[in-house]
Amino acid sequence: MAKATVATDWLAACAGCHMALLDIDERIVQLLEAVEFSSSPITDLKHPPEEGVTVGILSGAISNTHNIEVAKMMRERCQILIAIGDCATFGGVVASRNMVGTQAALKRAYIETESTVDGLIPDSPELGTPLDRVVGVGDVVDVDLFIPGCPAPTEAMWYALTELLAGRTPIVIPQEYFVYD
Ligand code: SF4
Repeated sequence: MAKATVATDWLAACAGCHMALLDIDERIVQLLEAVEFSSSPITDLKHPPEEGVTVGILSGAISNTHNIEVAKMMRERCQILIAIGDCATFGGVVASRNMVGTQAALKRAYIETESTVDGLIPDSPELGTPLDRVVGVGDVVDVDLFIPGCPAPTEAMWYALTELLAGRTPIVIPQEYFVYD
């Protein structure tokens, strides 16, 4: 039987949610028996394949136009889209920018910080244009499953993946996996 394929990417995010995914530790061997990873920050392939993947996983918030493009491409090319982490679910820590406004946050970060001399706000087209408001992935594309948390709990992600691979949907992740302390 052909293996299921998984693509992952991060948007406006730290690496924490992907690191939490890797925290399945030795179960990665079990996972790799059932799935093939295509594009991901781990394999360093940049885009999900045109022929599509079974599961797409996105971490991070939607903070700029590039994030929207990446989210839309993942949505178009995966059967099931999972948003992992608080940033992907509702903007998370990245959305704290909304309290002061994008331009003020960029100015403070790149020009006004006490350790900065001759600062410059980055404006390369490759970075995309910052949005006025940071939002979650579900605000720009349909998401099939949200796994909140900062980072998303490893066991909740493992549960979701194993349920999906067993063909059991919809996924209802047990509440016990969402204990934050
Ligand atoms: S939810 Fe937390 S760990 Fe995950 S990308 Fe956002 S800041 Fe990083």
